Amino acid sequence: MSEAQGFSTRAIHAGQAPDPTTGAVVPPIYATSTYAQDGVGGLRSGYEYSRSANPTRTALQECLAALEGGRHGFAFASGLAAEDTLLRAIGSPGSHFVIPHDAYGGTFRLFAKVHQPWGVTATPTSLTDLAAVEAAIKPGETTAVWVETPTNPLLSVADISAIAELAHAAGALVIVDNTFASPYLQQPLSLGADVVVHSTTKYCGGHSDVVGGALVCHDDGLAELLGFHQNAIGGVAGAFDAWLVLRGLRTLSVRMARHCDNAEQVAAYLDEHPAVTEVLYPGLTSHPGHDLAKRQMRRFGGMVSFRVAGGEQAALDVCAKTKVIILGESLGGVESLIEHPAKMTHASVAGTPLEVPPDLIRISVGIEDVADLIGDLDQALG
Ligand code: PLP
Repeated sequence: MSEAQGFSTRAIHAGQAPDPTTGAVVPPIYATSTYAQDGVGGLRSGYEYSRSANPTRTALQECLAALEGGRHGFAFASGLAAEDTLLRAIGSPGSHFVIPHDAYGGTFRLFAKVHQPWGVTATPTSLTDLAAVEAAIKPGETTAVWVETPTNPLLSVADISAIAELAHAAGALVIVDNTFASPYLQQPLSLGADVVVHSTTKYCGGHSDVVGGALVCHDDGLAELLGFHQNAIGGVAGAFDAWLVLRGLRTLSVRMARHCDNAEQVAAYLDEHPAVTEVLYPGLTSHPGHDLAKRQMRRFGGMVSFRVAGGEQAALDVCAKTKVIILGESLGGVESLIEHPAKMTHASVAGTPLEVPPDLIRISVGIEDVADLIGDLDQALG
């Protein structure tokens, strides 16, 4: 698969040559844990045991790497399994990380509750403030700066290239959680990041029918480390799940285009609504990260957060009233989802520096007819 090929061509063909045995156009689900050997150590095609490698997972990993413009992809059972494997691969007791002060709650919890007790420290920092990032990095001590952009759920936008320059000058790696943008909208490795993280549960899978995660990198040495830990820890994507994510990737570009079309219209509608006090969407010219998002993203994504007049109860009421937009956690699927971050996805960061406002609502804008989504919000906002 040539890197010169376009994104959609890579999504449909990378890692997905017709099956050599049958000609099947779609990579089969290799539902096997082990592989027959021709004599001890005589592997037929390099496969030995499916925790170490499985052809369906290989197909997904190659496609993910091709879409992120990296050389190496690794697929996991969830986004957090990917994150945990990465932290164990590059960190050790005493390691220091700079993390976004509005990181996804599960990422913060992984640092605070799982890795901190083993001696890892993390400094929550506003990544939109480059001086603060520079001050938080401890030269020679900081293992990595963890970037999420746009962030979940506040949709702030961090400058990947500028952070990469600061981090690399201090000997630190740069990790970018690219879940919200997807590789279609943003390719962090080309902006200087060392590792890309995905919850493939979201836009990559795209149909809310699978949980998965991924890491992508360019550097061969780092890839060896990640591959070792993927196998040694074993939080891998199973063959069925890998197949579902790969099926999702094939339509990523067309889905993302529609997510963006719809989100732009929903954000514009909310921006005019008297019951809405603030709309957080990088596509709005009023968003502080608008110009930066324009530079480093193809478009502005399908996630829209907004705050309502009347505080927490008003926000809960809106979430309870939508009919087309389903009340539920997660994001990135074809169906629109609405949620109250403070009480749902981000409940685990209550009382920490990452606590989110109680009047905040997050919508994952799906690919339904946008008039139906706006009509639904209209009746819910009253
Ligand atoms: N990163 C981001 C930005 C997320 O939104 C999520 C989940 O919501 C994750 C990581 C964790 O992924 P998973 O739920 O697949 O473990």
